[in-house]
Amino acid sequence: MTDRKRPIIVAVDGPAGSGKSTICSEVSAKIGWSYVNTGALYRGVGLLARDRGIDLEDESAVGAMLEKLAGDIRWDYNHHQLYCGGENLTLRLGTAEAGNAASFIAKQQKVRQLLLPVQRNLAINAPKGAMVDGRDIGTVVFPDANLKVFMTANLEERARRRLKQLDAKALAHGNDAADARDSLSAVMDDISRRDNQDSKRGEAPLRKADDAVEFDTSGYSQSEAVDALIALIRSHGLL
Ligand code: C5P
Repeated sequence: MTDRKRPIIVAVDGPAGSGKSTICSEVSAKIGWSYVNTGALYRGVGLLARDRGIDLEDESAVGAMLEKLAGDIRWDYNHHQLYCGGENLTLRLGTAEAGNAASFIAKQQKVRQLLLPVQRNLAINAPKGAMVDGRDIGTVVFPDANLKVFMTANLEERARRRLKQLDAKALAHGNDAADARDSLSAVMDDISRRDNQDSKRGEAPLRKADDAVEFDTSGYSQSEAVDALIALIRSHGLL
């Protein structure tokens, strides 16, 4: 990456359910920066491949689909909406189906290679600073980020938060929360399977960058975690 003028970039990586998207979107809204949710891109690609009946294991078919689409992926910084090929996929991104499809196609070199410039451009074109979250932001996408954070929380707490999100989404769509609710242990299984897949893959595995600050959000309320992250950004002279 060149030294051309670009916004301040804070890279936030971590396992599933550690609070990255909730906390980063609130932090960026509070400090007037843009939020780039790279997991949404992988989720969108996974969903589109499914919609088109593409075998997710067929790396060249998934790659060929994305090659056609990569120029047509739009992320709305202000409203956190994802558009692919003109379609707004946002409402479908939060499901376990989307998370699992994402984790599956995220192993593929072609997919990562095509999404790399999309992620970089989104962050670099942010009008002010950008909070960018994902799995390899501090290690691959922005190894020269101004600040790298590795956000974690213990597995049970991560699963509880994810369950709460699923319930809130079910209620927002007029479904009974209990209908949509998986058991805590099923959600724990789901996210630990995904973490395992994300950390063991050969391409850009989930890992803490050597120079990342570890931020364990276990025991923090959402607003405490938001305040702590803002304080961390401030303590690095970025605000
Ligand atoms: O962050 P989120 O849970 O939405 O990400 C969904 C999946 O997308 C992850 O489990 C991971 O496999 C993949 N991903 C990735 N690299 C990123 C962001 C997400 O591999 N930078």
